[in-house]
Amino acid sequence: MPDLNTVVAEIAAEMLARPDRGDVATYIPELARVDPKHFGIAVIDAQGEIAAAGDAETPFSIQSVSKVFTLTLALGKVGDRLWRRVGREPSGSPFNSIVQLEREEGVPRNPFINAGAIAVTDVILSGHKPREALGEILRFMQFLADDETISIDKAVAESEARTGFRNAALANYMKSFGVIENPVDYTLGVYFHHCAITMTCRQLAMAGRFLAHRGKNPTTGHSVVTPERARRINAVMLTCGHYDGSGDFAYRVGLPGKSGVGGGIFAVAPGKASIAVWAPGLDAAGNSHLGRIALETLAKRMGWSIFGA
Ligand code: GLU
Repeated sequence: MPDLNTVVAEIAAEMLARPDRGDVATYIPELARVDPKHFGIAVIDAQGEIAAAGDAETPFSIQSVSKVFTLTLALGKVGDRLWRRVGREPSGSPFNSIVQLEREEGVPRNPFINAGAIAVTDVILSGHKPREALGEILRFMQFLADDETISIDKAVAESEARTGFRNAALANYMKSFGVIENPVDYTLGVYFHHCAITMTCRQLAMAGRFLAHRGKNPTTGHSVVTPERARRINAVMLTCGHYDGSGDFAYRVGLPGKSGVGGGIFAVAPGKASIAVWAPGLDAAGNSHLGRIALETLAKRMGWSIFGA
């Protein structure tokens, strides 16, 4: 078995030397300003050892990676009834697509495209004030990562709200079918804010450990979800975690993972490791270009693909 620290250090050096970086997201100024030269990686193994390199301690906007954790919370709140409000099939469409909503009576294809994530946020919000729901999401991240410094970037959230016309359209369209229960503005407010959570690779890899270890943090012994639920969340990440690039990610990397337009990807090597990478430049499907290549390299060198080495 190759040494994890060595492999992680090699990958960071290789990624930092590459000229191809993809393009940073430009739909809000806060993301457009991020230097595409960043690259960070953090891998936490089953023993709790952390292998990290590059900009693993630099906070970035986790964006849609937050949707793994809101899905976990919503399943905790309403259980399998969640699947009446959102499907679990890959979309094959861009992250902010509206077309499938019309065919499927306002029920989004999966919890990781924008429409589905907004519906999931709405489930968390029901019965609470927006501030309480947001506090619950943030505290969940802090608890999972064992780090109370994790925060929300207000400027990012405000920019999202100012420019989120497509998300508002998706939410209103779902509301017209009764898929959204709360006032659309409230649901969107919570959604924009949880997308604006800022974390480092190390914090993100810490937060996701339960998904690599049958629902439990192996270091603290805390059970977050049942083994069955962890397996299912991983299945949805594998099939839907990279928008219309999900098939390609499974083919190349072979690990459940979820990307965000901030350039972060959280991935799971079941039973082995929780992984976070960050490289702000994106590919055509909106997934981190170097992040994907780094994970592909890691899975290959460690023999971690769930489909066999
Ligand atoms: N807040 C972003 C949006 O809703 C998230 C996009 C993403 O990371 O996919 O447009």
